[in-house]
Amino acid sequence: MNDRRHDQDGGPRRVGQVKEVTSLTNPIIKDIKALSLKKHRDESRTFLAEGLKLVIDAQELGWTIRTLIYSKAGRGKPAVEQAAARTVASGGLVLEVSEKVMGSITRRDNPQMVSAVFEQRWAPLSSFRPKSDETYVALDRVRDPGNLGTIIRTADAAGASGIILVGDTTDPFSLETVRATMGSLFAMPLARASLSEFLDWKKKADARIVATHLAGAVDYRTIDYKSKPTVLLMGNEQSGLPDELAKAADQLARIPQQGRADSLNLAVATAVMLFEARRHLLSLDAR
Ligand code: SAM
Repeated sequence: MNDRRHDQDGGPRRVGQVKEVTSLTNPIIKDIKALSLKKHRDESRTFLAEGLKLVIDAQELGWTIRTLIYSKAGRGKPAVEQAAARTVASGGLVLEVSEKVMGSITRRDNPQMVSAVFEQRWAPLSSFRPKSDETYVALDRVRDPGNLGTIIRTADAAGASGIILVGDTTDPFSLETVRATMGSLFAMPLARASLSEFLDWKKKADARIVATHLAGAVDYRTIDYKSKPTVLLMGNEQSGLPDELAKAADQLARIPQQGRADSLNLAVATAVMLFEARRHLLSLDAR
């Protein structure tokens, strides 16, 4: 998406004014709708997220909004006005749109009152320097947007310090993943790495790589999660971990199962591992 600003007639305008849009063919709306495609998210390095609470939380965490969109029902609501004022103050654009336009942007029949176009944020892998008491998650070629969103949400809830996306993964900034994170996307640092970049990082990081594997020899409850920071390495939904990653691990952990299921769902297995690793380190606050 380009960074043009338009009047209702499509002409250029100054940044920082609230603009009313009712037409589905408005060029700014077309640009926002194009964010449903990865190509456009990659080009513009932006993404769409929905919900007033999420927008407020993201602003508080320092995320930059390029365009804040609210439907007419939001006009005059103090929280919406405040989010709009913050967007304008940081040079963003604010749109007041009809329900129909909001529905078409978010592809929902009953859209939320507020959505926003945010700048994407990636942490450099080198900024992940595991310290004692920290737990990271590394995901090998995660494919399913719902799984990735659920893992980001769970990692946030368990107190993990960051997630590394290894290899060719689903896009964390797709609408489906963003929805599944329930706002945790804004709180959880994400880095990406090729397999070899991850292996190089692993050599330098003073961390224990605990890879989960159906053929793992070690019961996940018996692992030492305390003497070093832990990186939980999780395999692809279909094929599990490739040998190269499994060999690089310090331990291959297994979650014992009963019944007929071959394996656990990736997000479920990650949750089990995360809460076990964190349990060894601290007593999680019961909220
Ligand atoms: N067919 C795949 C295989 O053979 O590995 C199943 C992959 S499973 C759906 C996705 C990932 O979840 C696995 O690679 C592993 O990281 C983790 N996982 C699922 N169940 C597990 C278990 N019982 N023990 C350890 N890891 C498990």
